[in-house]
Amino acid sequence: MKVLVINAGSSSLKYQLYNMMDESVLASGRVERIGMDSSIVTHEPADKPEVKNVSEILEHTTAVRRVLDLLTDAKHGVISSINEIHAVGHRVVHGGETFKQSALVTNDVKVEIRKLFDLAPLHNPAHMMGILAVEENMPDIPQVVVFDTAFHQTMPQQSYLYAIPMVLYRRHKVRRYGFHGTSHAYVSDQAAKFLNKPLESLSMVSCHIGNGASCTAIKDGKSFDTSMGMTPLEGLMMGTRSGDLDPAVVPYVMNKEDLSVSEVNSMLNKHSGLQAISGLSSDMREITDAMNEGDKNAKLAFDMYTYRIRKYVGAYAAAMNGLDTIIFTAGVGENSVVLRKAVCEGLTFLGVELDEERNSERSKVTRRISTDSSRITVLVVPTNEELLIARDTYAIIRESSDYN
Ligand code: AMP
Repeated sequence: MKVLVINAGSSSLKYQLYNMMDESVLASGRVERIGMDSSIVTHEPADKPEVKNVSEILEHTTAVRRVLDLLTDAKHGVISSINEIHAVGHRVVHGGETFKQSALVTNDVKVEIRKLFDLAPLHNPAHMMGILAVEENMPDIPQVVVFDTAFHQTMPQQSYLYAIPMVLYRRHKVRRYGFHGTSHAYVSDQAAKFLNKPLESLSMVSCHIGNGASCTAIKDGKSFDTSMGMTPLEGLMMGTRSGDLDPAVVPYVMNKEDLSVSEVNSMLNKHSGLQAISGLSSDMREITDAMNEGDKNAKLAFDMYTYRIRKYVGAYAAAMNGLDTIIFTAGVGENSVVLRKAVCEGLTFLGVELDEERNSERSKVTRRISTDSSRITVLVVPTNEELLIARDTYAIIRESSDYN
């Protein structure tokens, strides 16, 4: 049973082919610059050298065809025919309130995803292009959609509603949805397995700290609250996103600087966060390097960034009336020793005791970085959203009566 996982963006398409018998990755790769003058295809088969080529790929259907050609290529391929692919799983950013779990793609499901275009105008239309492109190339293959928001659909109303007129929720579905759900679900499950405890017995805060960043309170195995909101802008300070701010800042700045809606949107999403405060970079590696060389703005950016994470962990400990596990994951969370140290140093009052040696170890596996006597267990758990998409796809296809 082989499952192809696709993450389609407006001008890119990433893929991974899984053998579900042992969950190994047979090949992965990406098509970049779709629709631009020279598209780049990078194909990485597991046991063969990487191939990279540049050609004209004007739309997603051609991109999928190119991927299938590479997967079945005599020299660079990993399967002999596309018939070996049993199902395709797609990452979809926004599932609104409609999708509380992953779903088999049907005409009704496509209609519902289209209805959500307004809520994720940059992402959902691109995912739909990916679904249609697979349909055109492999008309009989079952497809599954896995939503970034689905895990957070368990949040209680008190967590997901904003204190603004209810008519806006009823009419326009303005509420907190949360994102990175696939990652939070995956790492919390991995953490429970690592600790050898039932997931439902743990109160965790999962910190997905990558270019985008969010904290999620996970209670009884379910998302109880999360820092991202109706869009991924709310919550933690991020690489280029502001995170939380007084909403009154927006009209004030628009007025003072004569900014349009799209300009202010771009300012908050693309020109804020680490980038804005350091005046240097949105990349945590560059921030910490500059900080070590004495750059004051980089230090301020780092301090603001880690302070916000601490605030959320503390808030969620109170929200859940308890906390036993903190998880760090994603690019920064998995790799930055200094970030984890800075966050944990401010949480000693909760009973967090970091083991500096464990924290400094470089490793790609789930590991404990707190001391054995720490009241709260702190873990680093490498995330793997693609694997969770492949697992959900496999499970849904097996359950589905259409598949035999
Ligand atoms: P992600 O969005 O999960 O792919 O994370 C990407 C981010 O991880 C990059 O922007 C980097 O800032 C960060 N990152 C990757 N490696 C390191 C590292 N060794 N130390 C600090 N940050 C890192």
